[in-house]
Amino acid sequence: MRSPLLNNFFIPTQDIRGIGDRLAPLITKLCGPLSKDIIFTIPRKVNDRRVLTDIKLLQIGQVNTIRGVITQYIPNMKPHHPFKVTMNFMGLNVLTIALFNSRAEWVKRQFPMGAEMIVSGRVDTFLHDYTMPNPEMAILASEAFKLPAIEPVYWLTSGLSPRILYRTVQNLCESLPPLPEWHPQSIIDGEKFPAFTESILRCHNPQHLNDAEPDTPHRRRLAFDELSAHNFVLRRFRQTHSARQNGRTIVNDDSLWGKICQNIPFALTDDQRAVMAEIAGDFAGPNRMTRLLQGDVGSGKTIVALYAMAKVVEYGGQAVLMAPTEILVNQHLETITKFCANCGVNIISLTGKDKVKERREKYQQITDGTAHIIIGTHALFSESLEYKNLLLTVIDEQHRFGVRQRADLYSKGERPDFLIMSATPIPRSLTMAIYGDLSVSRLVEKPKNRQPIKTSVLSVEKMPQLCESLKNQIHNGEKAFWVCPLIEDSETLTQASVDKRLKELTHIFPKEWLGYVHGRLSSEEKNAIMAEFVAGRVKILLATTVIEVGVDVPSANIMIIDGAERFGLAQLHQLRGRVGRGDAPAQCVLLYNPPIGEKMQNRLNIIRSNDNGFIIAEEDLKMRGAGDILGTKQSGLPDFKFVDFTAHGDIMVKARQRAELLLHEDPQLTSPMGQNFQILLDLFK
Ligand code: ADP
Ligand code: MG
Repeated sequence: MRSPLLNNFFIPTQDIRGIGDRLAPLITKLCGPLSKDIIFTIPRKVNDRRVLTDIKLLQIGQVNTIRGVITQYIPNMKPHHPFKVTMNFMGLNVLTIALFNSRAEWVKRQFPMGAEMIVSGRVDTFLHDYTMPNPEMAILASEAFKLPAIEPVYWLTSGLSPRILYRTVQNLCESLPPLPEWHPQSIIDGEKFPAFTESILRCHNPQHLNDAEPDTPHRRRLAFDELSAHNFVLRRFRQTHSARQNGRTIVNDDSLWGKICQNIPFALTDDQRAVMAEIAGDFAGPNRMTRLLQGDVGSGKTIVALYAMAKVVEYGGQAVLMAPTEILVNQHLETITKFCANCGVNIISLTGKDKVKERREKYQQITDGTAHIIIGTHALFSESLEYKNLLLTVIDEQHRFGVRQRADLYSKGERPDFLIMSATPIPRSLTMAIYGDLSVSRLVEKPKNRQPIKTSVLSVEKMPQLCESLKNQIHNGEKAFWVCPLIEDSETLTQASVDKRLKELTHIFPKEWLGYVHGRLSSEEKNAIMAEFVAGRVKILLATTVIEVGVDVPSANIMIIDGAERFGLAQLHQLRGRVGRGDAPAQCVLLYNPPIGEKMQNRLNIIRSNDNGFIIAEEDLKMRGAGDILGTKQSGLPDFKFVDFTAHGDIMVKARQRAELLLHEDPQLTSPMGQNFQILLDLFK
């Protein structure tokens, strides 16, 4: 039962006063479905709307707020010129307010002649005048009390005006009750934390210009709350699923693995061996394994997974390997079948696309235990499917699944061990906060035979030259991926931009060289085009990124990333990793649309000069902060509202300690403080 104190946090968006049917979907899209999601949407910055008190304080080129009297209209002579309004302020000073694309009647209504007004916006000098083009805000001085002097600024979505969001947040804030304290007084005093509700209110009613910064007491407080709740839940989850429910002890002499090794044509890297030893240690110990294996694309995670699966199969159990797409399932099936040739291991695949009869036969094999390794998509966890003896679940490309789904997977089989593989390198400081419930292994070293990837950064203006040399390379037997960016999360816009590019390329290359895979194709169609590409009839494969994370086409050695400035560093690095997997040297071209700023130039240069995903991730963190890196929308990682991974490093450690101690002292949350903590957990649920 949730405390009635929280009622005002759990109002569905459409039921909030002042939000109609039109606004509800917009606000839900921007913030989330409940009032607390709106309350937890904190300003990205604050605007200083304090009225200028001294002309010496006026900052040219910056936003200034000026109070004065409207004295004159200067109508525009040409339609694209601005309508001008002059305002006298502080004695003899004159400000020209330039209104573009505005009709005279509207301007005269907004800026009544002789009225005393407050306007806010960027001030420039033009000849000897001060000018303010299109003010951000203009109100009668008599209404100034309606506006805060320091104004919170929120991220917006199209169709939602800043005013409306501001009003909604303010209304919600007015009805928030104080909540009982859920942390010990010693922490509150030591950290000088304001109370929870007070902290929330301070975010939305900033008093100082730095109130939107992460290192303020109210933001630190909220981050601490959020992280201790997150850590507590993760740790309790882990306790119930591993420590208390004991795993089984799997120890054997790896004789099956020994046979498999005879089919493996390369020597394992030291990192691969080290992780295998960690896995063997997990199996040998009494607890259930929940291990995250991080490694760049091409670092050789599959072999490590196969080692774990072989150990389980030798023990008499079954193992599943789950991948996010059918293409990946088929790829895994092929490689693993090859590695296990003549070893007596029965490997089958299972996807949503299996025919009824086929599926029935496969289900039979899984239920009677003749299938040892089952590779598949989500279909592996279909409710009607029963495993004979599922002891290990391997999940590939974990970031595509999300943490919540992970919890669902824990329920299948008889407490299977878990190995989760991710190609998204995450800085150390983040792994702890995000994966507090997992042990972490890393593959840093690349297999020895890996070819370096020559990376270049190129403006789209150089497309003709690029295509010319690409043509030559293709005549020499090369193949290329051409990746197009997702645009503003909009499939329509993305489609349009890819179509445009495709059209341009058909003027340059023979039509039959070009193939295009995208989200709307059926998987048969996709597979068919991929097969054409693998076979070399299609030479250039256009794709939007979302589709094929993880495809392995070793014979393709060129990666062109179109609109590179739209991708995150980690994503660029991952995409680049699709090439350079064969024996031939590989090449990656980052195509950008000029002009790009210095910052962006630096980002692209980091990719050019680095090939270690973990280093790139650390750089990315330094440059952008965590929210962007994790790209919460795509990653499925928890979407923290208040935590700033760059600024809250110390809070992360303290919050974990707080959660651990509480879990130790009062795991059921029965003490008064524990009951208060339950309120916190409900808030962040
Ligand atoms: P990822 O970590 O991206 O899943 P894979 O497991 O698919 O990487 O490995 C990429 C390629 O490298 C595969 O073709 C695999 O067989 C090969 N590979 C793995 N380990 C080694 C190694 N130690 N030496 C050489 N090649 C290796
Ligand atoms: Mg892989």
